[in-house]
Amino acid sequence: MKRLLKLFSIVGVALLLLTVTGITGVIADKLKFYFEVARLYSKEPDRRIAMPLEEVSKRQIADTWGAPRGTDRRHQGQDIFAPRGTPVFSATSGFVYNIGENSLGGQTVSVIGAGGRLYYYAHLDRYAPGLQEGDRVTTSTVLGYVGTTGNAQGTPPHLHFGIYTASGAIDPLPLLTDRTTPRVTNAAPRRTPNRLRI
Ligand SMILES: [Zn+2]
Repeated sequence: MKRLLKLFSIVGVALLLLTVTGITGVIADKLKFYFEVARLYSKEPDRRIAMPLEEVSKRQIADTWGAPRGTDRRHQGQDIFAPRGTPVFSATSGFVYNIGENSLGGQTVSVIGAGGRLYYYAHLDRYAPGLQEGDRVTTSTVLGYVGTTGNAQGTPPHLHFGIYTASGAIDPLPLLTDRTTPRVTNAAPRRTPNRLRI
């Protein structure tokens, strides 16, 4: 009986230790995140940001900033059209601030960047696998894929891209710069798969 009690107490202490270290780990992560976000706030906002879609040039964006949407709303962003499933890259470095669904934006990701600006990516078909709030991102990070969720249902697939500052939304178009993806001019010869002939 005594032995059994001892075993129980050992297991109990072990479980308690696991829980406490787990919780402090979470708190430490949260503190680190807030510290990093505070550091971002103190930085100057990015003056140039990368096009979220690799193959789309800035010239291809029809400027719809401020265009009326219904009777009581104006377009607070730019729409970037591309086939469904096109990867959406972060336009800036920063941290994933929010991953969530709303009626207008559908599936959305918000990234907080330098100067505390929020970069908003909406109508996503799906999120990048494993992406979580608090993740550090760079301009090479895929956030999700172009789609038609939210009020984009029934329209050609596009990314709604918005930028929010402390004083409200600003037009992303003047800040956007094309991605300079080097075009492959001398494509490597196609390798034959190393496969057993059967
Ligand atoms: Zn839009």
